[in-house]
Amino acid sequence: MAKDAQENFKQWRTLQRRVEEAQFVLVGIGNLFSQSLDGMRTDPFYAPLLSQAGQEREEDRARLEQYLQFHYIQRHPDGRLGKAYEKLAGLLAGKNYFIVSLCTDDLIYGAGLEEERIVTPCGGFRAMQCGSLCVTDQEALVTDRQVREELLLSIDACGGSLDAVDFPVCAECTSPLWFNRIDTPEYKEEGYLPQWRKYTAWLQGTLNRDLCVLELGVGMQFPNIIRFPFEKICYFNQKAHFFRVHSRLFQLTEELRERGESIAADPVDLLLAMGQEAGR
Ligand SMILES: [Zn+2]
Repeated sequence: MAKDAQENFKQWRTLQRRVEEAQFVLVGIGNLFSQSLDGMRTDPFYAPLLSQAGQEREEDRARLEQYLQFHYIQRHPDGRLGKAYEKLAGLLAGKNYFIVSLCTDDLIYGAGLEEERIVTPCGGFRAMQCGSLCVTDQEALVTDRQVREELLLSIDACGGSLDAVDFPVCAECTSPLWFNRIDTPEYKEEGYLPQWRKYTAWLQGTLNRDLCVLELGVGMQFPNIIRFPFEKICYFNQKAHFFRVHSRLFQLTEELRERGESIAADPVDLLLAMGQEAGR
């Protein structure tokens, strides 16, 4: 075993022990867990569709790319990430945990983790919304699974032409629907706010309790959602233990060194190499 791997292994054991001993486990997940979309550009199915989308005006292009990304992730989910989430579920089994994730690919759902204990404030593909400010008596979000299923089938059968796709539209103003994601115009926060309220209430309950904080692959994207608040939580809770796992941005602030540990590794690789099996 290489020296770095040995060191990571030792640190992982410490992390496991802290998780086992903690009353509460707070987990932050960042973009090192996001499914890569690089493969789309060279894929014979998606490349022509992306190039058609690229000829549209900017806003339409962004929306069409959302549809294609949705199709790509649904039809080609990254099994490596699915496995890593299962390992995380094994690590957290039986614990009182909450997960905040910046990922928008929804791969975290249905991988053995409890949905009631997850919030994804950047949204994802589980709901759709109108992209205009239309006045509506309708629900703000379209969560009907059937709508998304039909969209997938329509793209499956489009024969290489976006014109052949039957895109869903807003029931109120008939403009095309977007996904409920942070990159959508007029992003409707109703999609994540109920879970966010649950999260903040849960967090209140961890004050001065044994809390283990795992920050997995978070980096500096939207630092006000995970990175800075998690540091603050650990700074004020004397009983907290903090683990920052990242391949590049693993450094800890001076104040946290005493209660924190930084693990210089890709958290997905680390979970795959060392995590427990789910349901162990
Ligand atoms: Zn509308």
